[in-house]
Formats: sequence, structure tokens, C-alpha cells
Amino acid sequence: MASTETPRTGIPHPVINADECKSCMRCIVACPKKCLRLSEHLNRRGVKPVEYSGEGCVGCGICFYTCPEPYVLVIEK
Ligand code: SF4
Ligand code: SF4
Repeated sequence: MASTETPRTGIPHPVINADECKSCMRCIVACPKKCLRLSEHLNRRGVKPVEYSGEGCVGCGICFYTCPEPYVLVIEK
């Protein structure tokens, strides 16, 4: 059976549940590498969710601990 899990790359990166993000921007402000930004598109809540710029994440986890929503933003490696 095929796995539905995201392949591990060994490179830290945030994974965001875009439909559950409330666009509070706490993670964007807190990220020391400034590698998070708002999407151009609205989610099902009608707000622009956070997205990863694609590079720069060092896996510090600050965004995870800053997000007030459980498991909307997690760090994978
Ligand atoms: S883990 Fe750290 S560097 Fe990576 S996106 Fe989150 S706050 Fe930024
Ligand atoms: S802190 Fe969480 S809810 Fe707020 S913008 Fe970031 S991912 Fe979305």
C-alpha cells in the first residue's frame, strides 16, 4: 500500500494546515529567519494563511510554539 506520509528530507521546514490558519501572523513576526509570509490566496476561513517561502528555515520551532492553534503549524525534517 502506498504511504500518504510526507517523505522526510532531513531539511527542517514548516508544514502549515492552510485551511485552519487564522492569519494572526504571530509566527511571521516571531520567525528569526523571516521565512514565513502570507499567501496570496484565501483559505476556507476567508483569510490569507501563512505559507513557507521555501528556504531559510533552521528548525528552531519558534513558530510552532508561537502559534495559538494546535497543530496548524508543525516542523518536519
Ligand atoms: S522553525 Fe524557526 S526558522 Fe523555521 S519557520 Fe519556524 S520560526 Fe522560522
Ligand atoms: S501563528 Fe498559527 S494561526 Fe497564526 S498565522 Fe501563524 S500558522 Fe496561522
